[in-house]
Amino acid sequence: MCAVESSWSPGEIPPDLIERLKNCQKPLILTHIYPDGDALGSAVGMHRALQQLGAHPRTILTHPVPEKLLFIDHDNLAEVLSESSDLQPESLVAEADLIIVVDTSAPERLGLLESAVSASEVPRVCIDHHLEGSLDYFASVWCEPASPATGNLVFELISALGLQHDKNTAETLFVSLATDTGWSRHSNAGFQAWKYAAEMVSLGVDPEPIYNRIFQSFSHERTRSLGDLLSKSVLCQGGKVLYSVFTEEIRSQHRVNMEDLDGFVDSLGQVKGTEIVFLVVEVGPERFKVSLRSRGDYSVHGVAAQFGGGGHAKAAGCRLNGSEEDVIRQLLAACESLLEGDFDPAAQVDETPR
Ligand code: AMP
Ligand code: MN
Ligand code: MN
Repeated sequence: MCAVESSWSPGEIPPDLIERLKNCQKPLILTHIYPDGDALGSAVGMHRALQQLGAHPRTILTHPVPEKLLFIDHDNLAEVLSESSDLQPESLVAEADLIIVVDTSAPERLGLLESAVSASEVPRVCIDHHLEGSLDYFASVWCEPASPATGNLVFELISALGLQHDKNTAETLFVSLATDTGWSRHSNAGFQAWKYAAEMVSLGVDPEPIYNRIFQSFSHERTRSLGDLLSKSVLCQGGKVLYSVFTEEIRSQHRVNMEDLDGFVDSLGQVKGTEIVFLVVEVGPERFKVSLRSRGDYSVHGVAAQFGGGGHAKAAGCRLNGSEEDVIRQLLAACESLLEGDFDPAAQVDETPR
């Protein structure tokens, strides 16, 4: 067990980050590609806070957010690059006086916005909780890898900016926390996560309808395709590794889309004795997206990083190209090395972001 995961308490917010947030007029708020609940929640929470300070922020997402999460953007503040031809990365960046990146510190995770952001002289700041990223890319970074979500860092920032919390933003940031901790089931949900959740509930957040919206509103097609995925799962390496492949064939047969796959890897992790589970999703010809989860003491971050991905100790991801067999073979070999201790043990518990 990585001790930092359950003993995290908020570190010091860099004072110059607060100053930059207080002084900006036209901030551009960005997050990682294929935004999840924490990405959207953190971006929208930050957007509202800066509006309250009198600024005119814009929040730009590279891809749409899963429909079931849209309710947390109560006023439709976020704009989606891929949905509007009027949005040009270069002009969005040129209009900004500060670029705020939330829920990633890796420039390549900015997707289509990366080149415009990298080419610009506009100062960049980052608020994040991932293990990998580029410190030098930002003028100021507040990264807490042991934080359960970025959303609770934004919750802290709202107070540090001298603003009051309100019910809508508490709900938005509650969803950040709830989605990144799998409704407080994952090991990153230590004391701090429960404490923030309690504070948010005291601000008026009602957890039950949120749970129903996010975790109990799936289509029947999704449930049937999950059945296929589970029945095709393979248990190996002495019962310590379990994986399954979500092929294009299963997807088109059941007519589910990519966002329906959210949570599938957690369903795979219900088998007694498994240490590592991974889900391989075919995203194109010989192209695969991989989700890795650790249920015990092993950090799957190193496995993802080996293939150019990243994430956290207990939840990480990467992309691999090649035949399905080859991709599985490579992943299983990396898992075997991890289980046999061939990975540097220091790296297993090193939660520092770089
Ligand atoms: P997922 O399995 O997609 O839910 O991702 C689990 C964690 O790994 C999240 O924190 C992601 O940000 C991270 N992650 C997933 N894919 C990648 C990738 N290709 N590169 C870096 N981090 C990733
Ligand atoms: Mn995220
Ligand atoms: Mn996150």
